[in-house]
Amino acid sequence: MKHYRKLIENNAEWARDMVAQDPDFFTKREQVQTPHHLIIGCSDSRVPLELMTGAMPGEMFVHRNIGNQVWETDMNVLSVVQFAVDVLDVEHVIICGHSNCGALKSAFADSAHGVLDHWLSDIRSTMRWNQHELDGCTNGETRLHRLSQLNVLQQVRILSRTPIILDAWKRGRRPMLHGWVYDIGSGLIEQVVQAVDSTEKAMELLPKT
Ligand SMILES: [Zn+2]
Repeated sequence: MKHYRKLIENNAEWARDMVAQDPDFFTKREQVQTPHHLIIGCSDSRVPLELMTGAMPGEMFVHRNIGNQVWETDMNVLSVVQFAVDVLDVEHVIICGHSNCGALKSAFADSAHGVLDHWLSDIRSTMRWNQHELDGCTNGETRLHRLSQLNVLQQVRILSRTPIILDAWKRGRRPMLHGWVYDIGSGLIEQVVQAVDSTEKAMELLPKT
């Protein structure tokens, strides 16, 4: 129970500190949230989405799953995107992958993990579509890094084709789509895709043949 108890103690200390800095910190956020960003990240515990970007409570709407996937049939992620875009009117949607991702490693390893194998099938498709390039990487580390970038690119592409985003773009020019790879070893974000805010820009993300 030691590690669990620590969470509750940390929480009490954090809440006390925040109120000491700003007595209204929590009460002014109680009734409303106005985040500018939706971030879709991997569930990996080493990727602290809010901490690494300095986002405060109320500033970032968050969805996480293994391998930061956007499936066109996943009602969970689509509900989050729709709420963020149509109700919260976020300006930016960010897909955030990361270095040394266990999901990508498992996809490479092609080992059996039950239901997880099904979840990784889209990553395996991305691998197949880019096999020639991935095979040309000089070592395993470079190959894994390239797959992180390609996976993020693919998820931005999928997102750009959803009716939610297409309808939003028809109404105006929000949101902008971005793709990141967070480096666990340095704490820094690599921007793989920036400011896609139209079907034309999204088409440019298509792989060159
Ligand atoms: Zn991961």
